[in-house]
Amino acid sequence: MDATSFQRFGSQTTPTRSRFAILGDVHANLEALTAVLEDARKQECTHFACVGDLVGYNANPRECLELLRNSGMPCAKGNHDEYSANTESLSGFNPRAAAAVEWTRKQLSEPDKEWLRALKYVQVVAGFTIVHATLDEPNRWGYIFDRSAAAASFTYQTTPLCFYGHTHVPMAFVRDDGVQATNYGTLKIVAGRKYLINVGSVGEPRDGNPLAAYAIYDLSVSSVTLRRVKFDTEATLAKARAAGLPPRR
Ligand code: ZN
Repeated sequence: MDATSFQRFGSQTTPTRSRFAILGDVHANLEALTAVLEDARKQECTHFACVGDLVGYNANPRECLELLRNSGMPCAKGNHDEYSANTESLSGFNPRAAAAVEWTRKQLSEPDKEWLRALKYVQVVAGFTIVHATLDEPNRWGYIFDRSAAAASFTYQTTPLCFYGHTHVPMAFVRDDGVQATNYGTLKIVAGRKYLINVGSVGEPRDGNPLAAYAIYDLSVSSVTLRRVKFDTEATLAKARAAGLPPRR
C-alpha cells in the first residue's frame, strides 16, 4: 500500500461509523508495517492511529516514518521516537535498544527528527485516547503490565477507551468497581466502564507470537479486535543484520 492510497484515512470525520486500525511499536520494521496496513485495508478500516515507537530496533526508520507521516494518522510519541530525535544520554535503555537508538540517530534527517520531536505524549482522537507508555507519567516510560500500574493510568484517563503500547504485549484492563486484567481476541465495550488496551507491537512482538499485532476499534458496534498478521520476518532480520544492528535475544 502506498501513502496516497490511505491518505483519505487521515481525515478524522464521521467517527460513529468508523473502523479504526490502532497500531504501535512499529520499530522501523517496514515488512511488518506494510503487511499490517494491507490487512487493515482488507478489514475495511476507515481510520488509523498509532501509539508510538515508529523507529528503533530495525533497519527502515526513514521509510516507516515517511509512510506514517504521509498517512496523516495521529501518532503518540514513544521513547524510541523521543531519544532518536535528541542527543540525550541513553543510560535508561538496555544495550540493544541503546545501540539501535544510536544507529537510528545517524539515519534520520533533521526534518525527520523535528517531526518526531513535535509528537505529543497523549492525544485524544475521535473520543478515545492514545499514549505510548502510561497516562499518569507519559514522559517517564513506565510499563503497564499489572493492575496497579493500570489503576494509576486510569486515574488520568478522561475518555472511555485508551490505547497504549510500550510493553509489546497485547492485553486489556477494564475498570468498573475495580480494575481487571484480561487477554482479548474481541472485547465488547460496555458503557460506563473504562478500558485501557495494549494493541501489541507491529514490528517487534514480545508475547511469544512472532506475528505482527494491531487492533481494530469498530465504533459502530463498540468492539475492539486484536489482529495478528504474517510478514516477511527473514527479510526484516536480514536487513537488520546487514545494517549492523544488534540481533534479537
Ligand atoms: Zn517499543
